[in-house]
Amino acid sequence: MKTTVLAAAEAKPCPWCGEQPGMWRGVGAYRIIGCDNANCGVAPKASGYTKDRVLGVWNKRAVEDGRTEKP
Ligand SMILES: [Zn+2]
Repeated sequence: MKTTVLAAAEAKPCPWCGEQPGMWRGVGAYRIIGCDNANCGVAPKASGYTKDRVLGVWNKRAVEDGRTEKP
């Protein structure tokens, strides 16, 4: 599957490793955004219909920026 690396202006970096996430196309408008770093211990992913919605999920952080503790 083709991965598109998302720009920093568009998507926040992975909260665990700091890499920019990649985006995969699913069926129809379905999109998956996730950390594609093989060395990332968590490799979080978000998915949903339409790119905007998934970006909203990916960019939403339960812990505010600057307070995220890395493992
Ligand atoms: Zn990561």
